[in-house]
Amino acid sequence: MTSDWGERDRAVVWHGFTQMDSYLENSPVIVERAEGHYLNDVDGRRYLDAISSLWVSTFGHRVPELDAAVVDQLGRVAHSTQLGNGNRIVIELSEALAAVVPVDRPHFLYASDGAAAVEQALKIAFQYWRNQSAQGRDRYLALGGAYHGDTVGALSLGGDGFGTDLFDPLRFPVVRAPGYEDPHALATASKKVRAHGDELAAVVVEPLVQGAAGMHVADIGAFGELQQACRNTGALLICDEVATGFGRTGALFASERCGLRPDIMCLGKGLTGGYLPMSATAVTENVFEAFLGEDLGPRTLYHGHSYQGNALAAAVALRHLRLIEERSALANVNERSKQLDVLLEERVAPLPAVADIRLAGLMCGVELHPGERLGRRVCAAALRRGVLLRPLGDVIVLMPPLSVTNEEIATIVDVLAGSILEVTA
Ligand SMILES: *Cc1c(COP(=O)(O)O)cnc(C)c1O
Repeated sequence: MTSDWGERDRAVVWHGFTQMDSYLENSPVIVERAEGHYLNDVDGRRYLDAISSLWVSTFGHRVPELDAAVVDQLGRVAHSTQLGNGNRIVIELSEALAAVVPVDRPHFLYASDGAAAVEQALKIAFQYWRNQSAQGRDRYLALGGAYHGDTVGALSLGGDGFGTDLFDPLRFPVVRAPGYEDPHALATASKKVRAHGDELAAVVVEPLVQGAAGMHVADIGAFGELQQACRNTGALLICDEVATGFGRTGALFASERCGLRPDIMCLGKGLTGGYLPMSATAVTENVFEAFLGEDLGPRTLYHGHSYQGNALAAAVALRHLRLIEERSALANVNERSKQLDVLLEERVAPLPAVADIRLAGLMCGVELHPGERLGRRVCAAALRRGVLLRPLGDVIVLMPPLSVTNEEIATIVDVLAGSILEVTA
């Protein structure tokens, strides 16, 4: 006997990226509580959260240190405005982040979602040039298959094929280079930067991995040329680390693995360990200084969100940053990544349904040969075996928490192999 939570959900809630007409047929998990890496649903079933709640949680759920950080901050203040005023915990968080982001003498503008951090980056890059009276620097270069969020600016940077063609009339045009699926993506991008350099406000990339594109991994060595092309032409480099940041790829930031030092960096998802909505746009001192000028004057950045620099989120983000260190999270990501690589090669790669396996740190995509709703059906089979996955089309995404254990990796691969076999039998 299952509860009627599904019906009640369907009656009043509208879920993102979800066709509500078939919502209930796709057996949604309705969570009531969680423990560590496991989610418990309203019917008492338990699932291993192998997508880290859509890539946001890092140490799983109900992490004692993070719970305590929220409770502790609640005893001081939950939120106060950043507009023209400050908050102690936000200063402390910014100091801690400044010590670790690969951005020169950074300043942080906070928001709540990754898309908003990208939107802020776009506007900052645009105004950076206006503030210096530069002419004609109002285009962006972005990559094919890119995903930067769902607001209209972020959508414009994004590649086609996320079911958003409908909005084409609203999207501004960008200079488009190929995505990482093309091994020459970055060489072509560099060439385009050199060709269009003096029209470009900024170049926007997801360093190392294009996540939503289906976990396509770039050739690390090719980023140097892109960085150089940006430096030579003056185009600002924006690294969108919303998905890759905070240890996901085995370094604190993927930009480090790529040897990149962006002018602007977007942070989100793992920033609060998956606890609270917070994102940030980090800019170099050079970018920041272009906005200094007269009070109420035109050089000011007229942009800000109500919940910018939320104190509860800042408290948990600060505690989370220390926890990454205390728990040696990066070492675990690298060890578990190697284990995952070996197990997938052994158990999953030989299956006839599997076309490709891509892995960087604990970001993994298992691409299946195209088939009728295959991704969906494999994930449904995995759910029956107690592992929560969500596909990107024909790509099964594995995105376990940074603290995933040896046994849990073995379970995930076991369940994935069994599910693919069941569905394609
Ligand atoms: C998820 C994601 C975003 C958007 O973040 P939201 O918090 O969902 O708005 C932006 N960029 C990348 C690379 C992402 O993976």
